[in-house]
Formats: sequence, structure tokens, C-alpha cells
Amino acid sequence: MHDNEKTLDDFIWEDFKSLMNNPLLFNSYIDYFLILVDWIKKHKSDLKYSVYWNRLGPILDVDINDYISKEPEILLNQEPKRMFSLKPDTVDSFVMRLCDTLWDLVKLRSGKDCPRCKDDELNYVVAEVLKTTEKKLILECDTCGRALNIDGTEWSDGVAVIYPANEITVNKYLGAN
Ligand SMILES: [Zn+2]
Repeated sequence: MHDNEKTLDDFIWEDFKSLMNNPLLFNSYIDYFLILVDWIKKHKSDLKYSVYWNRLGPILDVDINDYISKEPEILLNQEPKRMFSLKPDTVDSFVMRLCDTLWDLVKLRSGKDCPRCKDDELNYVVAEVLKTTEKKLILECDTCGRALNIDGTEWSDGVAVIYPANEITVNKYLGAN
């Protein structure tokens, strides 16, 4: 059995669902983010071998007050159903759900459409290339995963850790050019 087929243990799922007892959970996007991150950090040893951990890990230490999205797609009053009602089959699908949710709360839209998905907007992200540790502001589509340089050319600098960007980051990178 591969790690990515590992079944999500019932006790982890039950523990996750118990977050709904916290009256602050759906209070605001910032509270939701903080409570999820706190829970994920406590359960890191159960989740970190997922293939999606690379994507989730970099968001866990951002200061959400500086990164909170102005236009999240998720609606807090629908989260009990979307996030907590159906147990994911595998650890991977659970980590992917957590990842998509947290990224939705920090993503910064660029106003430019993905050339492949047309109606989907590209987000600003910072890519840290593992080989060179160089950090670069790029555009990424969260539907198809396509990554572009700011000038619209294909980004292909190799394996990278992807961090969220906020307006300060964008101004810093664009101002430096
Ligand atoms: Zn796309």
C-alpha cells in the first residue's frame, strides 16, 4: 500500500470534527484559519507524509492578519457541510481538502485569466526554487496548476516551495523590477 492510499483513521477524523464544538470556529475567516492551522500543527505527524503536505506546510506559518483574502470563495455558513460532514477516504484527500481551504483564505488574485482555463483567475504566489533558494513572484492557476512568470511567459525554474503572496509582497517584487 502506498502512502497516498492510506486510509484516514477514524480517531483523527472524529478529533477534527470536534473542532465544531469551538464557538469561534466559524466566527470569522481569520478565526477559521487560525483554528484549522492550530489543529493541523498538532496532527502534523499524521498528515505530513501526504503528497500535498508540501503545498500545505508553507501556509501554516503565515501571519493571517497580513494575508487574509479579500474575496474567499468558501462561505463560513456552508463549511459545516463542505468541510466536516463527509469523511475523506484517504489521508491525501483530507490534506488536499485542508490545503484548498487554507489557500482559499490567503490567495491573492491577479486579475489575469489563466490562458488554459480562461475564466479562472491566476493568483500571485512566491516560488522558492529548491536548488537555488531563489524566491520569485509568479502567477499560478489553482485549477490546472499552471505557473507563469509575471510577464506571462511559462515559468519553469524547477521544483519549488510555493508561498502565498500579499499586496506588500507583490509591490516589493514589482517595484524592484
Ligand atoms: Zn488554469
